[in-house]
Amino acid sequence: MIYYKRIFRFVRPYVKNLLLANLSALLVIFFSLFSVILIFPFIDLLFNKNAPAQQKDVTSIFDLKDIIINNFAGLLEKYDRTEILTYLCILILLTFMLKNLFIYMQTYFMSVVEQGIIKDLRFDLYTHFLELPLGFYTEERKGNLISRIINDVQIIKDSLIAVVNSLFRDPPSIIVFSVVLFLFNWKITLIIFLLAPLTGFILSKIGNSLKRSSIKAQEKISDITSTLDETLGAIRVVKAFGMEEYEKNKFKSENENYFQLLIKIYRKRALGSPISEFIGVISIVIILYIFGKDIISGESDMTPGSFIFYLAVFFQMMPSLKLFGQMFNSYKEGTAAAERVFNLLDTEVSIKDIPGAIAISDFAEKIEFRKSGFRYEKGDQVLRNINLTIPKGTIAAIVGPSGAGKSTLADLIPRFYDLTEGELYIDKYEIKTLKIDSLRKLMGIVTQETILFNDTIRNNIAYGDKDIPVEKIIEASKAANAHDFIEKTESGYDTVIGDRGVKLSGGERQRISIARALLKNPPILILDEATSSLDTVSEILVQQAIDTLMKNRTSIVIAHRLFTIQNADMIIVLNKGEIVETGSHSELLERSTLYKNLYELQFRHQEVKI
Ligand code: ATP
Repeated sequence: MIYYKRIFRFVRPYVKNLLLANLSALLVIFFSLFSVILIFPFIDLLFNKNAPAQQKDVTSIFDLKDIIINNFAGLLEKYDRTEILTYLCILILLTFMLKNLFIYMQTYFMSVVEQGIIKDLRFDLYTHFLELPLGFYTEERKGNLISRIINDVQIIKDSLIAVVNSLFRDPPSIIVFSVVLFLFNWKITLIIFLLAPLTGFILSKIGNSLKRSSIKAQEKISDITSTLDETLGAIRVVKAFGMEEYEKNKFKSENENYFQLLIKIYRKRALGSPISEFIGVISIVIILYIFGKDIISGESDMTPGSFIFYLAVFFQMMPSLKLFGQMFNSYKEGTAAAERVFNLLDTEVSIKDIPGAIAISDFAEKIEFRKSGFRYEKGDQVLRNINLTIPKGTIAAIVGPSGAGKSTLADLIPRFYDLTEGELYIDKYEIKTLKIDSLRKLMGIVTQETILFNDTIRNNIAYGDKDIPVEKIIEASKAANAHDFIEKTESGYDTVIGDRGVKLSGGERQRISIARALLKNPPILILDEATSSLDTVSEILVQQAIDTLMKNRTSIVIAHRLFTIQNADMIIVLNKGEIVETGSHSELLERSTLYKNLYELQFRHQEVKI
């Protein structure tokens, strides 16, 4: 219930449309009933020439049948039958026209509510995804998140609409129709209504079982989406290792499981309708039997019209009873999906601005780690006792064996992760007291994995800044050694570069991301140098671009290249999460065996490449 209350919050902006839709629904009920009422005198007019003309004694307003008969008898005294027939035909036409008009109006208004809820819920989820810290994404499969935003949101919407529609439409129509039935013949109606709890019991059993299957099905579709995302993302590896058959079989089994579950769900869902319909038919048989017996024995005062009227009202009520029953199934399915979506929306955004956070606009002095330590949420201590000051304007190279914690150390500076011990200062500010947005504006980050979007080269370089003049983009591209190759592409700066930039070479992708960083022009640069084997020409071009990028900035470089190491103002040697040495290249060559080993390894690597 708690989840459902939260879903209802998403209806709030659309209350006006919802009310109009439900007003239309009520009018549909009214005109449905009215259309049935019209049939009653219509039949008597045609088939029962005497009975309606005889006025009955009406003792209470509850004698609905007699009131209609009397009114109709009154009409017959004043007008002739053909005239009444004409008016009745016109009235029937008008009634059905209005009924159908309001059916349309209901969908007209309801579509805004339905699609609005999906839109808002998706947007909230997406916004939350963007706010969640990086750490969250190392734990969750991307496909699961995609599945939440596409599939679960859809199920919530379907469920909510079924519930809202049913609540506004079915109980009122069931009440109105039941009152009419009771007024007509309370005894028979009472017998029929005693069957209702039985229907309710059976439907609730189906509903619970549906909820369980629905949870499993959503987990399965999540798995399918994840597999799809991962396989397509790694299609190159799949092909290179000839793993098509393996991936096909993996997908086949997931697809098959999902198929089996869906079949179960559809069959369970489909059970609801025949069961409630069959109980409806039992009711109709009761009506037919009791009324029929009285009519045969001549004890009934029913006219053919009133008999058919009773049946017709009952038939009109049946769909509402059925839909009201099914509503509970929808409710259960929706709750399961809502639970998953809201659990995700409730995931805490652990890295966020504190109240009164300061917006920093300049980097003036230094970056300083004080007794800092870090461990990932699930894992051992990765960094410990880090004391490090990087003054403004220096190139600081971080070196160390694989797994030493170099990338982790760099990720702490833009607050991709928060320190678990100690403090980190930018100038005089501890970074947790700064507005994250302003902090990250100070930094340009160029990673090994050049992340580009499937968009034009121009938009990739400008990333998000639509108003930036073209000249500036060209200027940055020239400085990044990218202009020449961009000019040679099919549509120059308007060339679309494919998914993650697949249409470009590794070196070209890197130069585009360097151009992007140059355009941003941040005072601090974090550079995770590429280890990928670029050819020598390409490497020289990238290296020149990096040199331009580092000019007049403070750079923290996870260094893999000999060149950067030699030119760095300070080299930080990390080993097993601790800083073991700090100094210049020549100092460290003398002092540090670890550095000497690393350097020699690097040097050999460079020689091999040349
Ligand atoms: P490389 O040169 O190979 O890139 P590195 O020095 O940059 O290595 P890090 O990537 O910082 O090393 O990793 C340091 C340690 O932290 C490793 O032992 C790694 O397994 C662990 N680690 C990295 N990312 C995570 C994570 N998201 N969750 C848990 N542990 C992690």
